[in-house]
Amino acid sequence: MSPPFSWIRPEPWGIHIVPADAWVDPSRPVSRALVTHGHADHARGGHGTTIATPATLAIMELRYQTREGASPVEYGETVAIGGGVTATYLPAGHVLGSAQILLERAGERVVITGDYKRSADPTCAPFEVTPCDIFITEATFGLPVFTHPPIGEEIGKLLEAREENPDACILVGAYALGKAQRVIAELRAAGHTDTIWLHGAMEAMCRLYDAHGVPLGDLRLVSEATKDQMRGHIVMAPPSALGDRWSRRLPDPVTAMASGWMRVRQRARQRGVELPLVISDHADWGELTRTIGEVNPQETWITHGREEALLRWCQLNQRRARALALVGYEDEDD
Ligand SMILES: [Zn+2]
Ligand SMILES: [Zn+2]
Repeated sequence: MSPPFSWIRPEPWGIHIVPADAWVDPSRPVSRALVTHGHADHARGGHGTTIATPATLAIMELRYQTREGASPVEYGETVAIGGGVTATYLPAGHVLGSAQILLERAGERVVITGDYKRSADPTCAPFEVTPCDIFITEATFGLPVFTHPPIGEEIGKLLEAREENPDACILVGAYALGKAQRVIAELRAAGHTDTIWLHGAMEAMCRLYDAHGVPLGDLRLVSEATKDQMRGHIVMAPPSALGDRWSRRLPDPVTAMASGWMRVRQRARQRGVELPLVISDHADWGELTRTIGEVNPQETWITHGREEALLRWCQLNQRRARALALVGYEDEDD
């Protein structure tokens, strides 16, 4: 008999499922990858086979222009991956198609969250609490200072700014996968039916969301607009475009940014953001600790962010925990 959980091994470039010779979210090309979601730090191109949800595979196809080796698995579906290991994909509530992966072997259960959040999001299925022995959690916002306000408050600020600036436009910086669509869907839910103008880099992903059953309303391209058409409107662009030449075509933009990091005033100032919107697709400190309590694993492995504080919290709460040193996970997706 091999020692418990010797079949799962954290390596610097991903979680190795040894008897199946497969990897979860590997940061370099491998023959078989299990991918939690489409953000670039989790979903790299160039694997032999990629096992992921249909939406994640569609996102990867859009980004890497290839569908080679795509192996779809639906939420709730269990697939045998070899070596006596099965994998079940469960919603993570992070972005469209995002999954936690439950790995089981000989009665031992390991859940890898990928990125996740607990607050409601109209663009993706909600996180499911899944009992397990080892819980491998992200920790992007793993400090007590990080508390994300209800998104309704932040959307309210955005709509207010728009009312107050009828001759300008509100330029919202948001990541092209996930954050942009969530902000648009929340604006629609708040009754905002006007045209929302898009930077060209966001168009394809918004169409993909629409095709996967997330209606985003009337979206049009900035490149096809006159300045006057955009006055009094909301414009969405990737964060990199905020201070860019591109923004000169906009009518007196008021610069906003939707990110969990907007909690840190200095980050907002550095980016020249006038209207910081604290909107995150990651669990905040309260969600991270509550989730560990609800999942109630024998052991928690912490990765992908600020491991130390969450490790300390586990120790103070008599929970076994360790920090993993995985490389290559940067916040594409805060
Ligand atoms: Zn992510
Ligand atoms: Zn991530």
